[in-house]
Amino acid sequence: MKGLIFSVKRYSIHDGPGIRVTFFMKGCPLSCWWCHNPEGISQQPEQVKVAEKVGDEEFIKFRQAGEYYSVDDVLEILEKERPFMAESGGGVTFSGGEPMLQSEFLLEALKACKETGYHTAVDTSGYSLPTNYSAIIPYTDLFLFDIKHLDDDKHEKFTSVSNTLIINNFKMILDSGRDVMVRIPVIPGFNDDDHHLEKIKSFISENRADNLRKICLLPYHRIGSSKYKRMNIPDRMEGVEPPSAERMEELKVFFAGTGIKVKIGG
Ligand code: SF4
Repeated sequence: MKGLIFSVKRYSIHDGPGIRVTFFMKGCPLSCWWCHNPEGISQQPEQVKVAEKVGDEEFIKFRQAGEYYSVDDVLEILEKERPFMAESGGGVTFSGGEPMLQSEFLLEALKACKETGYHTAVDTSGYSLPTNYSAIIPYTDLFLFDIKHLDDDKHEKFTSVSNTLIINNFKMILDSGRDVMVRIPVIPGFNDDDHHLEKIKSFISENRADNLRKICLLPYHRIGSSKYKRMNIPDRMEGVEPPSAERMEELKVFFAGTGIKVKIGG
């Protein structure tokens, strides 16, 4: 069995504790307006245009987004980074796209990583069958779980899917006792109004548990916009500015009111 992966990031420090290797798995059932990895959404390998800088000049070239990896390929990559991961308390993270879309491969990879002694994390939108989560829970040390919006209509408008399944999966994973970090993308005009922020804070407070380790506030950024242009995809966030550093600090203090540790960034 092989998994389709569009990027492998070594020395990652934003996808869980310590120094990690992050595998970005291709395919996502959501279509978030602010997605900065549009090359991760299709479930097929594809050629995408990328910009490369040489001195002051920028060149556009094609790169293959999506290659098939076996579990042994994954272990081979990890083995090379083992000393850094061990020393820093890091491990391996499966992100995307949505890694749960390749749930069979993910399960096999997680099992093999655990057997080989790695700390494992799964970064998920929460949008997958509960049975898929139940299967991976025994082999996943940490879930990085996105909560984007608690109003279902708004969630559906801006991500193309309902949040009902996501919220139920969130509660189920928390109940399992596995470590969870909640990731909240801070998207101006989508989820950052006072009313919604109060709602999300109450939701987290109500679900507070010892294994809910951290709240990560992910400020919207414009990194994806140049990719959209190159891939000829309409940029639905045109003209939206990222939140300021002051605003993010304000939100950090606000969410600290839940009693849970808060971090800006992943
Ligand atoms: S869930 Fe993540 S990868 Fe999928 S569309 Fe949304 S931002 Fe992009």
